[in-house]
Amino acid sequence: MSSNHHPYQLAGFEWKGKHSVIEVNGSKIGGQELCIIAGPCAVESEEQINTIASFLSKQGIKFLRGGAYKPRTSPYAFQGLKKEGLRLLKQVSEKHQLNIVTEVMDLSLLEEVYDYTDILQVGARNMKNYQLLKELGKSKKPVLLKRGMDATIEEWLLAAEYILLGGNEDVILCERGIRTFDNSTRNTLDLAAVPQIKYFSHLPIIVDPSQGTGIRQLVEPMSLAAIAAGADGLMIEIHNNPQNALSDGPQSLYPEGFADMIPKMKKF
Ligand code: PEP
Ligand code: MN
Repeated sequence: MSSNHHPYQLAGFEWKGKHSVIEVNGSKIGGQELCIIAGPCAVESEEQINTIASFLSKQGIKFLRGGAYKPRTSPYAFQGLKKEGLRLLKQVSEKHQLNIVTEVMDLSLLEEVYDYTDILQVGARNMKNYQLLKELGKSKKPVLLKRGMDATIEEWLLAAEYILLGGNEDVILCERGIRTFDNSTRNTLDLAAVPQIKYFSHLPIIVDPSQGTGIRQLVEPMSLAAIAAGADGLMIEIHNNPQNALSDGPQSLYPEGFADMIPKMKKF
């Protein structure tokens, strides 16, 4: 137990005494800028990822998300394009000058994913994969650590502590909703986590209203609410053809919907 009565130390606010800013190729996460990470749930084809990347780049977005290895609830669901998905992400990110955010689903995939991404995403289902967190602690790239769907704030910050303790200081937290009794939304997006994390920790925190609600029309209001709550950024799923998306179509914004949202977000 540290002197401030919580079990994490390196993740605690007092460890730094100020909020951390993480820089990725000149773009900042934390501080005054709002970081927007957008893209499809999964990379599906060259045409799909190129269309979306080109659109995002024209909108001034600096971070492209897209899963190549997807953790799906059903083994019958699309599992991602795997190595080909990584290759396509790299190709379009170079073409459109975007930083890549993609998930490393398992320790055995870390070496493969590492070279293809700028930020290593740890999915909600892996927040308590401590062996993976320890290895990420030795890595030189920033880690986006999603909140486990059953994780308390303390468990989440202790998961971050594993990465920090290994020597990797660049951890970005991502609130993506938790499981509650309510089933009208896919998850219950816990926006109180944002000011709580700001109080307890120096680490930047972003919000994923797409997994957080599972419903397209809730993405804009919850994005604005996340900004109002003090989030350092957003992770938003968009798709050029959501009706035919291979994963998470119902929560994916149309490009026009995303473009409409940008001036509203900037107003904050
Ligand atoms: C995703 O970002 O597509 C995803 C699978 O997220 P989570 O790990 O939060 O469920
Ligand atoms: Mn998704």
